[in-house]
Amino acid sequence: MQNNVQLAKFTSFRIGGPAKYFVEAKTDNDIVEALSFANENKLKFFVLGSGTNILVQDQGFDGVVIRNQLKDLKLEDGLVVADSGLLLVLINQFANKNGRVGFEKLSTVPGTLGGALYNNAHWQDDLLSYYVQWVEVIDPADPGLKIQRLTKEQLDFGYDSSLIKKKNLVALRAALLLPEGDVEQSRKTMLSYMKSRSDSQPYGTANSGCMFQNIPQTLGPGNHGTSAGYLIDQAGLNGMRVGDAVISEKHGNFFINEGHAKSGDILKLAEIAREKVKAKFGVNLEFEVKVI
Ligand SMILES: Cc1cc2nc3c(=O)[nH]c(=O)nc-3n(C[C@H](O)[C@H](O)[C@H](O)COP(=O)(O)OP(=O)(O)OC[C@H]3O[C@@H](n4cnc5c(N)ncnc54)[C@H](O)[C@@H]3O)c2cc1C
Repeated sequence: MQNNVQLAKFTSFRIGGPAKYFVEAKTDNDIVEALSFANENKLKFFVLGSGTNILVQDQGFDGVVIRNQLKDLKLEDGLVVADSGLLLVLINQFANKNGRVGFEKLSTVPGTLGGALYNNAHWQDDLLSYYVQWVEVIDPADPGLKIQRLTKEQLDFGYDSSLIKKKNLVALRAALLLPEGDVEQSRKTMLSYMKSRSDSQPYGTANSGCMFQNIPQTLGPGNHGTSAGYLIDQAGLNGMRVGDAVISEKHGNFFINEGHAKSGDILKLAEIAREKVKAKFGVNLEFEVKVI
């Protein structure tokens, strides 16, 4: 266990102060030990995946950060069984090597499986939960910290939600059902999705994906109907800046750290966006990014 580890370098926003305690967890047992330490010392904890959907505040985290480094991957009973510390893109590559397809859209989401399970990662019409058969988790509230295997039904997946998020469970690994198919076509399709992302999102900048969740009602045309980014665009906020924090010109739901943005700059910009969108559309935007 390390102390006072700066978190900015572990986040795609490149923002965030120190973790009081910091553990690199390579095994299930490392996670159990870190949770026991947190429980015994009455400390809060959070699991850090690849940090692509979090805003860590500048004051840091006064608890235990468990950096997920579980990385086993296998094919078992026709299912891809992947540890939660693996990036989705690597899971897709493994699936393709084993003749499996269907994970093209989700493989373009730049995070670990754990972060994707937490939020039920989504892109366009695809949701991670379509593929999940079971997930092994630890409930930090369980005094024995036992590993439990939960079925898809038990996991209560919804848009941006899961039992993992609701109960603050730690996801260790998941089994994904991916059909056999044309691997060459799957690779081409995946590359075309990557291109469409880089055309529409500010790739290569320090951001944390979509700042806000899309909305349940339809307030715009076509694909933009329920998009928080569309509402921010329509409120005329692209390019707005607080310090080094800027709302992307390319996609209104992406907030960018152009250099030395503080967490407070991002939060201030988010507050302005929420107020303007509320005034124009009467909608309350909710954070998709987890503020820590
Ligand atoms: C350019 C860009 C594009 C993006 N596009 C999309 C997109 O199309 N669709 C989409 O859904 N998201 C998108 N995101 C957001 C992000 O990539 C996803 O939410 C991703 O699943 C987060 O994974 P992570 O490992 O980075 O999680 P982190 O950011 O590290 O953590 C996110 C949350 O998950 C929790 N968590 C992480 N691992 C575990 C675990 N093992 N057990 C329990 N909880 C855990 C964390 O505690 C935290 O609360 C995008 C982000 C970027 C930067």
